[in-house]
Amino acid sequence: MTKRIAIIGGGIAGNAILHHVVNHPKFDDSFRIDIFDSKERMGRGKPYIEDSEVLLLNIPSDEMSMTNAPYNFVEWLESKNIPVHNYNSRKHFGDYSEEMFRRTAGVHSSVQLIDCKVTDVVYNEEIESYAVTSEIKSEEYDAVFLTVGQLSYSDPYRLKEKQNYIHNPYPLNYNITEIDGSVGVIGTGLSAIDCVRYLIMEQSVDGVRLFSRSGDMPSVRGTSYDLNIQYFTEEAVDAYIKDDLISLDKIIKLFKKEMSAQGVDEKLFYRHPESTLDDLKYDINHADAVGKLQYLIIAVNPLFSRVFPYFTKSDKSRFMREIHPLIDKNHSPMPPEVAAQLVEWAEDGRVVVIDGIDKVVTNTQFEVMTDSNEMFTVDYLINATGPIKDVEKETSPLIVNLVDRMLIASSELGGLIVDKEHRIISPRYGTLKHMYAIGNLTFSSDYMSNTVNILVKTTKLMVEGIMED
Ligand SMILES: Cc1cc2nc3c(=O)[nH]c(=O)nc-3n(C[C@H](O)[C@H](O)[C@H](O)COP(=O)(O)OP(=O)(O)OC[C@H]3O[C@@H](n4cnc5c(N)ncnc54)[C@H](O)[C@@H]3O)c2cc1C
Repeated sequence: MTKRIAIIGGGIAGNAILHHVVNHPKFDDSFRIDIFDSKERMGRGKPYIEDSEVLLLNIPSDEMSMTNAPYNFVEWLESKNIPVHNYNSRKHFGDYSEEMFRRTAGVHSSVQLIDCKVTDVVYNEEIESYAVTSEIKSEEYDAVFLTVGQLSYSDPYRLKEKQNYIHNPYPLNYNITEIDGSVGVIGTGLSAIDCVRYLIMEQSVDGVRLFSRSGDMPSVRGTSYDLNIQYFTEEAVDAYIKDDLISLDKIIKLFKKEMSAQGVDEKLFYRHPESTLDDLKYDINHADAVGKLQYLIIAVNPLFSRVFPYFTKSDKSRFMREIHPLIDKNHSPMPPEVAAQLVEWAEDGRVVVIDGIDKVVTNTQFEVMTDSNEMFTVDYLINATGPIKDVEKETSPLIVNLVDRMLIASSELGGLIVDKEHRIISPRYGTLKHMYAIGNLTFSSDYMSNTVNILVKTTKLMVEGIMED
């Protein structure tokens, strides 16, 4: 019997799913796989589209790979005679990932790449099948993977459609082209840093103001460590499962024990000098200590994803309130080269970070007001606040329809709810047997497990479970 599979979204998660399915020993001629995405994102995903080469990976090039097999990104760069840097451009990673994806799809006639967006999925409970409607066709499938990535960009100051407001800046080299006047960026995260680099290095602007509520920037990647985890292990964590729950207090205690065994000072979590600039300098000057903390977090990240579904609702909220900000700050650090450049620009007065932003008023210019009643005016304002988290607030047709049909529901922490096998939990039908979601869309269920390497591993586990089924 033919097994018809739809993968909605051909970014990093969709790409990894395809790879694991076709390489599984149970894959045969009975499978038919359709993958939907726009042509420019197929095989690459949103962060790795064609864009300026000054937008860099935030993970060292030699730690990036789309497979668990040896053919990794660095080998690909070498094979193309592209210089290998500590951090290559995200565009080049997209070229690599797309090439691997198209090669995998190309050798299987049963795999079709469909260059369009999906707008709806209708579940037929009686025959357990899914009608997937795209911009060009509607067809029935036995299984659906929802891998559409981040939701739309948020608009915290309701400026969408205002002239000279750039709501979603990516691709930067398409959306930000003729800046003629002063420019501000809302946000201080990795996307804001992309904008600063692009504006100064490619658009030759004199200076950029970064506006945010907290002024907090990601940390700076320190020295790399290959840590041998002693206490915070899968067995230790699993031993805490009681009545299908794990206590957050026990996890915190175990993590502290691991920190102490690895010689990581807990105080590092609270290292935040007065200014953003000093914060960056601190990390640059303490690369060994900061790196050990970061690589400890990276090493145990998959375990946080494992325990997260076992927390009670109140433990999840407490975790997000008290622990998450500490992990988040150290989880996706910026490359040290990028930090050093930012410090230089800040010292030259070309980059200014303004925190305490309260509201933005539009007159002939944008008037950005702080909570201490200071006002800054700029001619152009770029939104780098990132995506919305609540699926119920999303405006793209597919998610709107899925919410409306009650196929998906928002997780209390953002994204949508899935079970431990990544089956979607529908408020109308319960756990959907063959509809799965993974990637950025499940960021709260899979606590922060969205880096390429982790996604490649978690999609493998998910696919293995499904293929056995
Ligand atoms: C700016 C940025 C930089 C990052 N840098 C790194 C890094 O250096 N290293 C690292 O390991 N991780 C990095 N990450 C994290 C990680 O790579 C991404 O989170 C990863 O791309 C998530 O995979 P995904 O498949 O969920 O989403 P994506 O890769 O974005 O794929 C989702 C795909 O779904 C498609 N889609 C959306 N709606 C529809 C629809 N209705 N129909 C069909 N298709 C649809 C989109 O076009 C997109 O191609 C970065 C993330 C961001 C945002």
